[in-house]
Amino acid sequence: MNSTIREQFPILNQNINGHPLVYLDSAATSQKPRQVIDALKHYYEWDNANVHRGVHTLGSRATDAYEGAREKLAKFINARSTKEIIFTRGTTTALNLVASSYGPANVGEGDEIVLTQMEHHSNLIPWQQLAKKTGATLKYIPLQQDGNITLEDAEKTITDRTKIVAIAYVSNVMGVTHPIKELAAIAHRHGAVIVVDGAQSTPHLKVDVQDLDCDFYTLSGHKMCAPTGIGALYGKRALLEAMEPVEFGGEMIDDVGLYESTWKELPWKFEGGTPIIAGAVGLGAAIDFLQEIGMDAIHNHEMKLAAYAEQRLSQIDDLTIYGPRNREVGVVTFNLGDVHPHDVATVLDAEGVAVRAGHHCCQPLMRWLQVSSTARASFYLYNTEEDVDRLVDALIKAKEYFTYELG
Ligand code: PMP
Repeated sequence: MNSTIREQFPILNQNINGHPLVYLDSAATSQKPRQVIDALKHYYEWDNANVHRGVHTLGSRATDAYEGAREKLAKFINARSTKEIIFTRGTTTALNLVASSYGPANVGEGDEIVLTQMEHHSNLIPWQQLAKKTGATLKYIPLQQDGNITLEDAEKTITDRTKIVAIAYVSNVMGVTHPIKELAAIAHRHGAVIVVDGAQSTPHLKVDVQDLDCDFYTLSGHKMCAPTGIGALYGKRALLEAMEPVEFGGEMIDDVGLYESTWKELPWKFEGGTPIIAGAVGLGAAIDFLQEIGMDAIHNHEMKLAAYAEQRLSQIDDLTIYGPRNREVGVVTFNLGDVHPHDVATVLDAEGVAVRAGHHCCQPLMRWLQVSSTARASFYLYNTEEDVDRLVDALIKAKEYFTYELG
């Protein structure tokens, strides 16, 4: 990665509080390259119309752009067919779709849903709600001290009563990468399905849903250079075919009578109402952009940055880093002594360095870590070693400030 990549992100070219911006909050949302911004502008200036119904030229251009984005995404994650790609608002909506459609039809009293304690609330609460509705039980694969899980523990936790295993590929707090392929094999041996929260993996790793053999996979466009409001659910075709829609209305119907209606085929039966057309166009442009650079190159760059950040941050006294060493993705979570992470983040912001502070939508994980919150620096393809140096310098300033000024 070099500075020409950074230059393609216009937002990064500004000063914050008198300092050049260092954006280290890409796990919350990524910045957008010029190519994506231009694609949105072009769509609205030239092609905007509703899809799947206009006989006119704009209608067919908009439909081609929307369905073209589905094809790009199917190839990007190696789905067998575009029928397996449902556009949603993001990961949260996609997980809720599985929980509220696949869930009640396949989970009953006494059944088990297996999770980990580090799941994002979006991959936790839908399953809590499903368990409440159906009388199923939630079970958690225990975490090791560094936040990893072991396959031995997974073997013990997943049983013949398990119907669903729901787990993040990459944790948004700990930077842990879970062994999805192996977990899928264990789940399948017990007749369960595996639902993968791919919000943090899709932007950073080469994803192959066929190789992972996951049953469902979810993603959010805004974390991978696309606009907010677009994401997707991948599901194996046979599973999606058997599922009932959860949103009813225009776009998703085949024939509507006064008392009965029938649905379109996949994937449209799950896309009620006018879809997120511009969002999908933006997602298609983001996928083109990421592929031109190459997912392997992006991943390697982030691994190097994470290693550099770990090495530099571990030289700061009183800084606790959570999560495993040698992480595979660029997410580093930490606390500076007993200073509240919001105060740390405020001092860093005064230096132009944007990090996230809080519970990161992972309250059960915070309890497990025995902290109320943490600070988190997350890297993406546009970050550089100089950004890490700026973070470290700002943290040293913060440490001095809290030691001497407030001391
Ligand atoms: N899961 C993980 C691991 C995440 O990091 C996030 C976003 N922070 C989500 C789910 C939810 O994604 P969204 O808000 O885009 O639906």
